[in-house]
Amino acid sequence: MHTVDLCKKDMCCGCGACSSICPKKAITMKQDTFGFIYPHIEQEKCIDCGMCKKICSFQKIYNIERKNDKKICFAAFNKDSKELSLSSSGGVFSAIAGSFLKKGGVVCGASMKLENGEASVNHILIYSTDELFKLQGSKYVQSNMWKCIGKIKEELKNGKKVLFTGTPCQVDSIKTIFKNYVRSQLFTIDVICHGVPNQDFFNSYLKDFQDKNKIKLTKFDFRNKKYKWGLDGLAVGSDDSEIKITTIESSYYRYFIYGEIYRTSCYQCPYACLERVGDLTIGDYWGVEQYDSKLLDVNGGAFTRDKGVSCVLENTSAGNMLLKEYGTNLHLEPVKIENVIKINTQLREPAKHSEKRKKIFDLYAKYGYSGVENMFQRRRRYEIFKASVKKLIPKPLFMYLKKIKNK
Ligand SMILES: Cc1cc2nc3c(=O)[nH]c(=O)nc-3n(C[C@H](O)[C@H](O)[C@H](O)COP(=O)(O)OP(=O)(O)OC[C@H]3O[C@@H](n4cnc5c(N)ncnc54)[C@H](O)[C@@H]3O)c2cc1C
Repeated sequence: MHTVDLCKKDMCCGCGACSSICPKKAITMKQDTFGFIYPHIEQEKCIDCGMCKKICSFQKIYNIERKNDKKICFAAFNKDSKELSLSSSGGVFSAIAGSFLKKGGVVCGASMKLENGEASVNHILIYSTDELFKLQGSKYVQSNMWKCIGKIKEELKNGKKVLFTGTPCQVDSIKTIFKNYVRSQLFTIDVICHGVPNQDFFNSYLKDFQDKNKIKLTKFDFRNKKYKWGLDGLAVGSDDSEIKITTIESSYYRYFIYGEIYRTSCYQCPYACLERVGDLTIGDYWGVEQYDSKLLDVNGGAFTRDKGVSCVLENTSAGNMLLKEYGTNLHLEPVKIENVIKINTQLREPAKHSEKRKKIFDLYAKYGYSGVENMFQRRRRYEIFKASVKKLIPKPLFMYLKKIKNK
């Protein structure tokens, strides 16, 4: 078997649309040295029909909505407190998806399974509200989407309404594949996204984490409301032990938040802007306490900051319909998009990485995740040392030394 790359790495988001459309099943999605998934063509099977290139929306951006219109934007939370507590943000997803399911629709989104301490993140279809929990919560790793394309096709052909949710590149891909069903049966919600690491890298981190803490994980929440609305997560072991995951102490999470470990295409992401691809866009309304403090209960508003505040962008008439027909469990307040994008830079530009990204992946290729973890721990020890020295120095002297250093 002789395989060749289909396109340049920075021009592939790994959605797998090309592999799903190939009439000769000549394209398979395979991991590269660093764990990122890319399409490979078996040349002997290829008939050069060009379907794979035609379907690739990442390179053409077929479905950008509401190009120059004024943006309609809301702050939002789910009025069902249980659903809100299981959501990473304000629970907009579960409010709309729950109602969509109750009215006979099918919902597709990212789900994470942990088996023998190993995670697999895939897009799946759910059919009832009992399954909603499977899709709730942010999984900060790339979800394999191509595996469910066939099932979506089946449901659409059976006349079902499908609500697809995922990253903007995934939404664009789905809308291109099923363009004849868009807005008649297929509705979409994209999440504001700053980039995705790969599953192999994440699992190597999990293995290292479990070895170090001598536990077998049964649950890993990137974000858990036990620690209020923020970025702290929770890992649970088979003996019910709980470990808090923070962006300071977890190497994976820190490198994720700092944008060092995404796939190459994320740094050129054409969707990191206000022109959106989904009928609705959902994300966190970071900075609500600064820019729309009147919304918060402490100031007489309806929102409780620590429970989670979402932002919702209404991009199409179908988005308007989704909110009106399926968003009845949402509390919505119009806000200015200018306020929402102040902290959420992914609505303005793609993520950037530093020179550390190369170091991380070089170490990973050479030593596995322990190489990455060792570098991270060295840096942590230095940070802790620096903080303890800072505590010992009287404040005026510290300020003076800082001033000299900055001269
Ligand atoms: C990789 C990634 C990066 C993100 N970056 C930002 C950001 O920079 N700024 C911001 O405001 N918000 C970001 N978000 C979105 C945010 O984390 C919440 O997912 C979003 O606000 C929805 O919250 P919720 O409370 O309504 O629903 P929740 O129940 O918290 O989330 C469920 C929804 O998230 C989707 N989802 C979860 N994991 C994935 C995944 N790996 N791939 C595709 N879809 C997934 C599900 O399909 C479902 O639609 C990001 C999400 C992901 C997955």
